[in-house]
Amino acid sequence: MEQYIVSARKYRPMTFRSVIGQESITSTLKNAIASHHLAHAYLFCGPRGVGKTTCARIFAKTINCLHPREDGEACDECESCRAFNEHGSFNIHELDAASNNTVDDIRSLVDQVRVPPPIGRYSVYIVDEVHMLSTAAFNAFLKTLEEPPAHAIFILATTEKHKIIPTILSRCQIYNFNRIKVADTVRYLKYVAENEGVEAEDAAFNIIAQKADGAMRDALSIFDQVVSFCGQKVTYQAAIENLNVLDYDYYFKLVDAFLGGQVQQSLLIFDEILAKGFDAQYFISGLSSHLRDLLVSKDAATIGLLEVGQAIAERYRVQAASVPVQFIYKALELSNECDMNYRQSRNKRLLTEIMLMRLCNLNGGQESKKVEPELPKLSGSATPVNVAQHAAATPAAKTAYPIPQQPARPQMVAEEPPVRVHRRPGISISAPAVQTGQRVTETAQPDSAAPQTATPAAEHCDFTDEALAQAWLKYAESLEKEAHTTQTMRNFPPERVSHDSIVMHIANSTQMEEMMAHKRNIERFLAAELHNSHITLSIEQDVSRFDNEAFTPTEKLARMQEKNPYFKELKQKLGLEL
Ligand SMILES: [Zn+2]
Repeated sequence: MEQYIVSARKYRPMTFRSVIGQESITSTLKNAIASHHLAHAYLFCGPRGVGKTTCARIFAKTINCLHPREDGEACDECESCRAFNEHGSFNIHELDAASNNTVDDIRSLVDQVRVPPPIGRYSVYIVDEVHMLSTAAFNAFLKTLEEPPAHAIFILATTEKHKIIPTILSRCQIYNFNRIKVADTVRYLKYVAENEGVEAEDAAFNIIAQKADGAMRDALSIFDQVVSFCGQKVTYQAAIENLNVLDYDYYFKLVDAFLGGQVQQSLLIFDEILAKGFDAQYFISGLSSHLRDLLVSKDAATIGLLEVGQAIAERYRVQAASVPVQFIYKALELSNECDMNYRQSRNKRLLTEIMLMRLCNLNGGQESKKVEPELPKLSGSATPVNVAQHAAATPAAKTAYPIPQQPARPQMVAEEPPVRVHRRPGISISAPAVQTGQRVTETAQPDSAAPQTATPAAEHCDFTDEALAQAWLKYAESLEKEAHTTQTMRNFPPERVSHDSIVMHIANSTQMEEMMAHKRNIERFLAAELHNSHITLSIEQDVSRFDNEAFTPTEKLARMQEKNPYFKELKQKLGLEL
């Protein structure tokens, strides 16, 4: 019977160029070899299974090669290379510090270092898991590491760089190995499968690569396991069954159920998952990952963070288009909360089911008001039925759409000074603008009261428009420490409504807040300046007039937030400041 060699060994890279996912490190090492700039101690850090020991071995082979190639690779043909390839070289010494971590182990290593290699130029000492060395062993090692014989090169490897003492770190050239990307792992698995005559579905490769979590050695071991289970044809279904991975399909169906408010459906799906032997906590964290994947699929800029095969990525893209971003945030919050409470809960199944019920209520509850602008896009998406159900189930949702002639009527708030918003017939405030939280009282005014047709200054008036304008600017310029308000007042000069009442039209809620703070003072100032104690100033936000105007960065930000509520959310999530 032919001897079986596991793929992780059989396909272990023998040259720098065949190392997957560590291009920057391999090219640096090759350059160092080609230019004869070799250090005496290297520290390779990074997660397990990403190629640290492999690179150390290739490095040892290459620097001992008798006829190295110009590109910095070993020739693979000379005596030394052959000895390395057959694991019979005397130039390489490997010490596993996890099991040999005492001072005595290090002392015997140090004794060994003094002996020059019988053939080749360098003796390479690979110390794996070097962070496991005891402090005394570390100290015994220091001297040799600092002044090694010319023929000795140390390559220390560790998964936990933070446990290495600074005196060691400062004596080494440090290389940080990356977790291997899913796409790179998949590409290599395909190559291995082809060589082994195994046919496999793309999605199966992706599942294996994800399960390996960035470690190529794990990926190859899992591949072997799946192949021995499935034979020469590996399907996605067989792979997830063998690896005990929950099918994506369940999460897609669940999110559809959440959006449609189908509580029973979601509970039945959860029951099916439990019946398949999956742990509820595993399911919860899978659901969180699914929501996260939906979130990154919403934007072309972040879709690269999705680590799935093409077919599944397309499903994510389609579902993401139908899920409001606000829903995803809320859902993530709920699943995360459930995950955190899971261990303490005495009825874990019920806890999870409560989460599912709350998720089903998300889209039909309060939250729906914020997410409306997304909904019209839903028609023609993957879940038209759910959307229709949703819309029918939540008639309140309709009111927030901007409907010409019947603008949404914001709530009256008594405790704040009233702020009027002019609406001209046929012009409606867009829905996001109403949602800014700005307290607004609406006065539907007849056209004649609109500013353009304001009553001209009456003959009874005891101050001229010019005097008003001058007094206005005088106040504005007196605000030394509030340059921004000065600018706002300059930009929005007052208009006369009647002989002693004036109005200031501003463009957005930021200016509104700013001016409301000064309103009383301005009135008093004008009264003194113009000798008229009856002057009243009203400040009005006129969205239709200043629709495209934003003057300062603060105003531009406010404008962007008004137009797109998610912008504010994003700003808060990322903790951004202007
Ligand atoms: Zn060679």
